[in-house]
Amino acid sequence: MAVSDTPARPDATSAPAGTGARAARPARRPRGEGQWALGHREPLNPNERTKKDDNPLNVRARIENIYAHRGFASIDPADLRGRFRWWGLYTQRKAGIDGGRTAVLEPEELEDEYFMLRVRIDGGQLSLEQLRTIADISQRYARDTADITDRQNIQLHWIRVEDMPEIWRRLEAVGLQTTEACGDCPRIVLGSPVAGVAEDERLDPTPAIDEIVRRYVGDPQYSNLPRKFKSSISWLADTPYEVNDISFLGVEHPEHGLGFDLWVGGGLSTNPMLAQRLGVWVPLDEVPDVWAGVVGIFRDYGYRRLRHRARLKFLVADWGVAKFREVLEKEYLGRGLLDGPAPELPAKPIDHIGVHRQRDGRNYVGAAPVVGRVSGTQLAELADAAAEHGSGRVSLTPYQKLLVLDVPPERTDSLVSALRRIGLEAFPSVWRRDTMACTGLEYCKLAIVETKARGQELVARLEERLAGADLGEGLSIHINGCPNACARTQTADIGLKGQLVVGPDGRQVEGFQVHLGGGLGMAQGQSAGFGRKLRGLKTTAAELPEYVERLTRRYLDGRTEGE
Ligand code: SF4
Repeated sequence: MAVSDTPARPDATSAPAGTGARAARPARRPRGEGQWALGHREPLNPNERTKKDDNPLNVRARIENIYAHRGFASIDPADLRGRFRWWGLYTQRKAGIDGGRTAVLEPEELEDEYFMLRVRIDGGQLSLEQLRTIADISQRYARDTADITDRQNIQLHWIRVEDMPEIWRRLEAVGLQTTEACGDCPRIVLGSPVAGVAEDERLDPTPAIDEIVRRYVGDPQYSNLPRKFKSSISWLADTPYEVNDISFLGVEHPEHGLGFDLWVGGGLSTNPMLAQRLGVWVPLDEVPDVWAGVVGIFRDYGYRRLRHRARLKFLVADWGVAKFREVLEKEYLGRGLLDGPAPELPAKPIDHIGVHRQRDGRNYVGAAPVVGRVSGTQLAELADAAAEHGSGRVSLTPYQKLLVLDVPPERTDSLVSALRRIGLEAFPSVWRRDTMACTGLEYCKLAIVETKARGQELVARLEERLAGADLGEGLSIHINGCPNACARTQTADIGLKGQLVVGPDGRQVEGFQVHLGGGLGMAQGQSAGFGRKLRGLKTTAAELPEYVERLTRRYLDGRTEGE
């Protein structure tokens, strides 16, 4: 650096001579958070650059016209690890790489030539034709894999890029899609698996879900958001509405009648926050516009500089609900919204397992695979069983379970037996009913710990060792392969966050940080809340069954009346 012997001229911001004060620095321009509405249009990180360079939706044409013909090696890395997600495609983790190497390897060293494909099923309901199509794709192109996710998607594995044009042709022929199933865009809209049939549902929101999907999914106006955007729309509190970016929950307004209460800013992962009520009442036909207004705020005002601060929850936390509502009304809707009452909430989450009466006199049957894992073969058998028992459709739940709808009462017992024969249990143990697991080390590139097989082993062990235990309302266990909380770590009675821990011989092994006492969907004096992460509460993965058994026995011994 050159040194000048000429004294610098004092500028307007310098302290007056003789005051003894230190010279003030020139005022710095505040560092932006990358909000478009405040003029920060230049990409501030590689993800933003990828989206700006080319709208990710455009990658579909390249897959169909180039990559499917030239193969995996021909794929541009920015498409492969970025834009492919907008069509539901992630590269799959290479087999045999342990969790200790996740953080040290480059993406190309971690990934396989195969893809995970997420099929979005907005609202969660499937006709038998759609179910059979997914089953057939699984058997033909995905080595018979299929997982029901906790967001009502079906996830397939071992997909080759060469097969994607034909897979899309088959899915789209029956009204299914993978558009924006992943990526920084509006993901699947969660809905009640019993929308339109439940006895206690008073207003079916399916038309609003359908309209949102028709208008906005795949619309380039909404395809470049700061990060993912999760939605839930249900009359019943049977989705995890508190942990979505936007939720509409059914409520009756004393003057205006049936409509929806609006919540914004929920999310889990590393800075979990519960969604907050805006205190407004939205009639059914206005739900799509209000939904688009909230997504517009997120697109324009959401933080894009740092990925870990880019979810809507950070904006809601900084603004508060009053400002959020004001911006929504003034800048996006051009009108005020009506104040609305709070909805009544159930005492515990509703999972619909078992046999239940529909409002038309028929039944629905909710059944549990183990930790959401099924197969194409099983889904085909499910379609056959449903058809043989007079049903024309099934639905998926956000708890990795499934329902057969519209079952004549006289055929219900026979259906329960048929489901049991194909590995789907309508009267499961508390362990099977309440345990979920994310994708984990088997396929996920971010994973540190194996989850699905561990979950299956855990359920089997607990069923054997604690068969007669009276757990009352149940005991939820959510197993996650890393801190990302895809299986909602913080909302379970026992939430397990995958990480490396010190094993008995002093070496690092797969294990879990334990969160205790989380819950959602609570009312009647209890409140929704996140499980507490207690320092030192960890277990190795190998000891997990014994650990949960010990914890459960201690809880059963020490619980008080009514707990
Ligand atoms: Fe993968 Fe982690 Fe999500 Fe599990 S929680 S699916 S390991 S990113």
